Amino acid sequence: MVQERTVDAAVIGAGQAGLSAAYYLQRRGLVPGPGFVVLDANEGPGGAWRHRWDSLTLGSVHGIHDLPRSALGTPDPLEPASSVVTRYYGSYEAEFGLQVQRPVRVLKVFNPEGTGLLRIDTGSGPWHARAVINATGTWDKPHWPRYPGQEEFRGTQLHTHDFRSAADFAGRRVLVVGGGTSAVQFLLQLREAGAHTVWSTRRPPEFTAAPFDTQWGRSVEHRVSERTRAGLPR
Ligand SMILES: Cc1cc2nc3c(=O)[nH]c(=O)nc-3n(C[C@H](O)[C@H](O)[C@H](O)COP(=O)(O)OP(=O)(O)OC[C@H]3O[C@@H](n4cnc5c(N)ncnc54)[C@H](O)[C@@H]3O)c2cc1C
Repeated sequence: MVQERTVDAAVIGAGQAGLSAAYYLQRRGLVPGPGFVVLDANEGPGGAWRHRWDSLTLGSVHGIHDLPRSALGTPDPLEPASSVVTRYYGSYEAEFGLQVQRPVRVLKVFNPEGTGLLRIDTGSGPWHARAVINATGTWDKPHWPRYPGQEEFRGTQLHTHDFRSAADFAGRRVLVVGGGTSAVQFLLQLREAGAHTVWSTRRPPEFTAAPFDTQWGRSVEHRVSERTRAGLPR
């Protein structure tokens, strides 16, 4: 028989956003269990980070923002970010007693008439809640643009989501599409692994010698926000 459970708030997703939301629900007096529940589809902690490839070490990411009231500290920069973040989020869940329910995939959220509660259908039975916080991120549904001829192309096609190791491409010709950090890191690793690379970006890449610090980050963020608010491409 499927158990039905009722809470004040349900958080869907236990990545950075979901854990932060859970922390603040608790701080406002909601208790894990009757007050709120965190439902997460993953087998273990870490959100999207637990799926990232091994060569993405902590030293090669931009930096992991601390969760509320718990500092990440200074782990080994050579350790894969996936294991650092999985460990960090796992101990956070334990420290604050968040009781994340997993693996629980939410299939549907809807508003049945007359109950005043939202109904959350999951792979392991329904939940009911007064409020739902959707913190599911983008990793499970990555943006993958369509290109003319894509269906006929016989070579391997993959998204960042499915990258595992540059060694998989040794001796092959590889087109890397995109102008962000992941693309640059892929190009460097692919070349070292013996692949022949071609890089495609929408406009010429802009490299900067500015120090990669908080001030620079804020200024980039500010310019992106301004363009977004003005309805311009980011
Ligand atoms: C290659 C790469 C490098 C990055 N580097 C950095 C960096 O250096 N610094 C930085 O700050 N950010 C970085 N980011 C971005 C960062 O990873 C994301 O911004 C962050 O993970 C978003 O957190 P989130 O909590 O919103 O989502 P996620 O971490 O994606 O967590 C969402 C959670 O929701 C769960 N979920 C999804 N759907 C359901 C469902 N239907 N039912 C139940 N659970 C569900 C998932 O299983 C997952 O656990 C990087 C991203 C990429 C792709």
